[in-house]
Amino acid sequence: MLNVPSQSFPAPRSQQRVASGGRSKVPLKQGRSLMDWIRLTKSGKDLTGLKGRLIEVTEEELKKHNKKDDCWICIRGFVYNVSPYMEYHPGGEDELMRAAGSDGTELFDQVHRWVNYESMLKECLVGRMAIKPAVLKDYREEEKKVLNGMLPKSQVTDTLAKEGPSYPSYDWFQTNSLVTIAIYTKQKDINLDSIIVDHQDDSFRAETIIKDCLYLIHIGLSHEVQEDFSVRVVESVGKIEIVLKKKENTSWDFLGHPLENHNSLIPRKDTEDPYMKDSYIRKNINQRRETFIFTFNPDVVGLYYRKCQLISKENVTHDTRLFCLMLPPSTHLQVPIGQHVYLKLPITGTEIVKPYTPVSGSLLSEFKEPVLPNNKYIYFLIKIYHTGLFTPELDRLQIGDFVSVSSPEGNFKISKFQELEDLFLLAAGTGFTPMVKILNYALTDIPSLRKVKLMFFNKTEDDIIWRSQLEKLAFKDKRLDVEFVLSAPISEWNGKQGHISPALLSEFLKINLDKSKVLVCICGPVPFTEQGVRLLQDLNFSKNEIHSFTA
Ligand code: FAD
Ligand code: NAP
Repeated sequence: MLNVPSQSFPAPRSQQRVASGGRSKVPLKQGRSLMDWIRLTKSGKDLTGLKGRLIEVTEEELKKHNKKDDCWICIRGFVYNVSPYMEYHPGGEDELMRAAGSDGTELFDQVHRWVNYESMLKECLVGRMAIKPAVLKDYREEEKKVLNGMLPKSQVTDTLAKEGPSYPSYDWFQTNSLVTIAIYTKQKDINLDSIIVDHQDDSFRAETIIKDCLYLIHIGLSHEVQEDFSVRVVESVGKIEIVLKKKENTSWDFLGHPLENHNSLIPRKDTEDPYMKDSYIRKNINQRRETFIFTFNPDVVGLYYRKCQLISKENVTHDTRLFCLMLPPSTHLQVPIGQHVYLKLPITGTEIVKPYTPVSGSLLSEFKEPVLPNNKYIYFLIKIYHTGLFTPELDRLQIGDFVSVSSPEGNFKISKFQELEDLFLLAAGTGFTPMVKILNYALTDIPSLRKVKLMFFNKTEDDIIWRSQLEKLAFKDKRLDVEFVLSAPISEWNGKQGHISPALLSEFLKINLDKSKVLVCICGPVPFTEQGVRLLQDLNFSKNEIHSFTA
């Protein structure tokens, strides 16, 4: 609903606007750009009509404010007066009015969850929704039981042994110098990508991705620990162990106190099968009502951000750079293949976030990472739009500067590669980014793979990202074919020309598909992706054989 700042992207007459079925954006009046909105919020004008007071809003009160000139909307428990924002909203007034006088969280998330509305609308904040006290009571009682060590191993084991749906739990134990937090996921497909750990001062958080949910441990530790820690996964039993090093070798009486949303199972955004997600949560609620805090609203917990340092920046094409960021020592985060994160920067006092898909540092195995412990680096291939909002600011960062990086999101699953024989990749522009890790993974980790074909659409030769690496890789590995298609070649070009089309696709996909297991991945400007999916369906590819990358 509240679209991010890139309100005018794509440009008014760009093909990207012509997409059918896409979210429509309305032309904004003169003086109603994001920058104008930021200026208004900083002008000191009373935008809520409450003269700076924050109030507690009941449902009845919220319902009354349902008109354009008096429009309140609740997002994640906070109520905003969005009337002053109406004319600045890229999605138009009608879109905003759909949530007038009600809880707009779901509607908001259907469009763009990453929009930093807290920052954009902070001057419009009216107050919080009135909270139901019963929830808080349960929370504290249950947490006391868990964190003082009264939920011992025997009980966890007992729970795990029970028949029925799986649900996570945790436990902790200690030696003289170490504290181990064990998470029992009861899922076999858990790996080091499934767990994200951050700790800062005494605050410890671990997010475990379990199917389409996130299990959060969030604790204020009772004693200090060192910055570095280790994470182990025992795949066969779905157990994760996080081993923290005590600062002092004393015995801890209890692990710590619960922080916000501790011990919650939270539905993840961007999941493949909403029904499965729902039923998983429902089953767990029924089975484990007494020890779980279930967050029904998936967004009570937003994405968590940690500050990462810019280590290097390298020109890849005239407008695309390879950025290398370093995670803090107190973070464990590995972005799964095909998933993206959000980068956050303050821009003229407002925090702006945009999604980006991490890549490997190179397509070639001889590439050497800077010498530091494994998995401490995240690489991004990012195109700088000189008239864009976010990327020029990113480009201005100096080595050593910081940028916030969110936890990952996305619905791509590597289980799609199981027994895969033929893989087709269709990429346009920076839509190449998810293909990088997919290519690396497919060519090294899928024994059944017979053929990988990449068709890469760009405007000109100068726009092709990692052209020589792709050519070298295709030369080294005969399973890989790469074809470049240009829409606006400047100099003489002997290769393919044009846009994605039935003719190009049917030739590209010509392979003996009869008995093979096949996957087609597609990513690029939204209309490109949408058109590609339609063409693939016309060519009789099934839903399971197509994966399109979109936000
Ligand atoms: P914007 O402000 O969004 O502007 C983009 C373009 O629109 C510019 O050319 C700008 O001049 C033009 N424009 C803006 N306003 C107007 C106007 N009023 N009139 C005419 N033209 C206008 N990008 C990458 O480079 N690498 C990635 O790995 C990557 N991963 C992504 C993953 C996902 C899931 C998604 C959804 C997107 C991804 N993107 C990626 C795109 C990225 O999120 C941003 O959209 C992109 O970087 C543009 O950001 P910006 O704020 O700089 O530009
Ligand atoms: P670009 O350079 O503008 O375009 C790349 C190629 O795609 C060009 O040949 C272009 O042709 C063609 N193209 C553009 N719009 C088209 C359309 N409607 N139909 C058919 N072909 C079209 O691309 P870019 O600036 O790098 O943008 C990449 C896009 O990918 C962004 O929108 C970004 O958000 C998206 N992206 C998404 C993800 C994800 O969802 N996971 C990840 C990365 C990037 P023309 O010469 O005619 O323009």
